[in-house]
Amino acid sequence: MSAKREVILSGIRPTGRLHFGNYFGAIQSFIRLQDGDADCYYFIADYHALTTITERREIYRATLDMLKTYVACGLDPARSVIYRQSDLPCTAELSLLLGMVTNIGHLERGTTYKDKLSRLEADPKVEGNPLSFGLLGYPVLMAADILIVKADMVPVGDDQRQHVEMACDIAQKFNHRFGETLKIPRPVSREAVRIPGLDGSGKMGKSDNNTLDLLDDPKTVLKKIKGVETSTDPLDLDTDSDAPEMVLPKMPPGVGVLYYLLNLLAPEEVYLDFLGKYRRKEKFYGMLKNTLAEYVNQFNAPIIEKYNDPANSDESIEAFLRANAEKVTPVALDTVEACRMAMGIGHSLYRA
Ligand code: ATP
Ligand code: MG
Repeated sequence: MSAKREVILSGIRPTGRLHFGNYFGAIQSFIRLQDGDADCYYFIADYHALTTITERREIYRATLDMLKTYVACGLDPARSVIYRQSDLPCTAELSLLLGMVTNIGHLERGTTYKDKLSRLEADPKVEGNPLSFGLLGYPVLMAADILIVKADMVPVGDDQRQHVEMACDIAQKFNHRFGETLKIPRPVSREAVRIPGLDGSGKMGKSDNNTLDLLDDPKTVLKKIKGVETSTDPLDLDTDSDAPEMVLPKMPPGVGVLYYLLNLLAPEEVYLDFLGKYRRKEKFYGMLKNTLAEYVNQFNAPIIEKYNDPANSDESIEAFLRANAEKVTPVALDTVEACRMAMGIGHSLYRA
């Protein structure tokens, strides 16, 4: 008997253009994993975007653009099943069922919820969207996304580690209470990264206005990189250590971001050359910024070219997404049905 294929699942919210954090935190793994022999499911998380975006046209446009960007980055629509979350509405039912075994205290410890709460406490007028039940329940819906396809592995950035842990906890609680029903995914890999934002904050994020985007043109790239704060004096480095990962925490935040990105994109000798300059406290930030901008542009150029391919009409993208949702629907309905039966409300509605 042949071994069962592993299932890989991950999603991205259509809340803006994809950035380097999305690429190195998630999309790079998506592309690598599609070469293996697992079933890869990648979805565009439009339900999740509703906690942030209220303009309906914006969500629709961003969803279609995201598929184009996925493909432009190298995701192969023939090898990965790429679908839109809301085309699988039974995810919402599973989320409701999972909510019955989810402790509110657990959700209140969620980082996304806590961040929003503290921003609102600091300034109640700062955010457009309310502190909604949808935001509090975000990890439950994410658990439903993962569990509904019986995922083994969830390639996400380090910022999503806690949410995947919550999904595992919820599934374990469900199985404990109602019998073995849900597949428990593996925890997020230790190698998962968190790319810092251009403002020097800990995380580049679409909603944080601190991103370097995969579709940024050379003028925008240079403007954004020139705008990174580097006026702070260099900090002393531990000169005994050559380990690149030791560098970031010891630099002022803006400088650390430039080095982080250079380390990702430039050949090692270029990176080490600039590291030497930093250690010697030479004046070089202008050159560093120009060099980094060049590597970013080299990285972005083929993605932008593919993204602009006129073969991708809105209608063809829409049809593609719907057809792919149909491929995921049988396994998703099977999971929801199993949960309904386990909880005692199964009437085989979906199988009638
Ligand atoms: P938003 O601000 O709207 O939440 P985002 O930039 O955080 O957007 P998501 O759609 O929430 O992007 O996340 C999509 C994927 O990209 C997830 O796997 C997430 O872990 C990853 N990701 C997002 N930002 C980063 C980052 N700065 N570093 C590494 N991975 C990231
Ligand atoms: Mg996010």
